[in-house]
Amino acid sequence: MAERGRRDLVVVGGGPAGLAVAAAAAARGLEVLLLERGSLPADKACGEGLLPAGVRALEALGALALLPPEERAPLRAIRWIDASGATAEARFPGEGGLGVRRTALSAALLARARAAGVEVRERTPAVSHRRGPSGVEVATPSAVERAALLVAADGLSSPIRVREGLDRPVGGVQRFGVRRHFGVAPWTDAVEVWFGEGLEAYVTPCGPRRVGVALLHEASARSSFGEMLERFPALRARLGRAPFASAQAGAGPLQREASARIRDRLVLLGDAAGYVDAITGEGLSLALESALELGRALPGALARGAGEAALAPWERATARRFRVYAARTRFVLGLARRPEARRRVLSAAARHPRALARLVSWAVG
Ligand SMILES: Cc1cc2nc3c(=O)[nH]c(=O)nc-3n(C[C@H](O)[C@H](O)[C@H](O)COP(=O)(O)OP(=O)(O)OC[C@H]3O[C@@H](n4cnc5c(N)ncnc54)[C@H](O)[C@@H]3O)c2cc1C
Repeated sequence: MAERGRRDLVVVGGGPAGLAVAAAAAARGLEVLLLERGSLPADKACGEGLLPAGVRALEALGALALLPPEERAPLRAIRWIDASGATAEARFPGEGGLGVRRTALSAALLARARAAGVEVRERTPAVSHRRGPSGVEVATPSAVERAALLVAADGLSSPIRVREGLDRPVGGVQRFGVRRHFGVAPWTDAVEVWFGEGLEAYVTPCGPRRVGVALLHEASARSSFGEMLERFPALRARLGRAPFASAQAGAGPLQREASARIRDRLVLLGDAAGYVDAITGEGLSLALESALELGRALPGALARGAGEAALAPWERATARRFRVYAARTRFVLGLARRPEARRRVLSAAARHPRALARLVSWAVG
């Protein structure tokens, strides 16, 4: 389909969003080049909890079976634990979710992308780009690549979103995330969200002897990982003397907004298209689902010229899903900031487990 010297697609960013859309598009016969500034497989600050919808998307991409058993753990439920001791838990629907090491997720998606025929270039940053009526040019330090469409999957800070003037300033409290793994057998098959003052601990089993702890915090609550963890004494006791099983990795500010997700011959995908917060653990699922759907939509959109009108049906569906995620995340963030309301909601949820399970089933698909 692509002209000589010009691909159908250049994807910038080899995170889950970029690898997934590259794999899905190449599997439909498109010629795809992926540029990643770092090395692959990649690690990243992440809670590593994949909700059921994300697990299904991984399966559809053919990547689920490639996750080694020692890098994953089943997640059957989500449990919220308040500093006051109030706790509520809901089972995930169906097969449940998955805790998975980012390096293993990256390796599985990379293998699918390469098997589908994607040309993957590591340690190759996109340094600039230009959109024209008939295509895009993306410059790396060593070459200029041409394609019919550019997918910017370049993460939270998305240089492409910024260069395009699509970065919308966000106000309010800035939040950050930092994670480490502990070498300990998981004590539960639930992903746990521990609420503290100005910070939460997001605890995910992600291997037979590995538990990840991501601390999500406001700028004012920032301290060292160890000091922030001490603010959850019951969790600290659970971890006991378990050794660290990874280096510390951080990210933030978390909240980002894009004024648009598509332009003629350009799509922003994954975190590059906007992010609210990690507190509901949905970023990966959103990224994988929207990448999969974009891969399905692209042959038709490219045949129609890859302009905004051709990309609009995908954009509308993705925007709907993002609005639901954003509303849900803002609600949980509101509870995180209001201890009294949170205690009341958790106590009510614990008294009505069936209603909570229905709510969670609706929320996480
Ligand atoms: C602390 C924390 C905890 C989280 N917990 C969870 C969780 O439990 N569950 C969940 O589902 N989600 C979670 N998330 C969110 C999840 O990590 C993101 O939503 C997900 O990584 C988005 O994938 P992405 O591909 O869009 O971006 P990324 O994974 O950030 O990938 C972007 C890629 O683009 C590359 N790149 C950037 N600029 C360039 C350039 N100029 N040229 C070439 N390459 C470039 C980067 O090197 C990177 O590899 C969490 C996030 C944080 C910060």
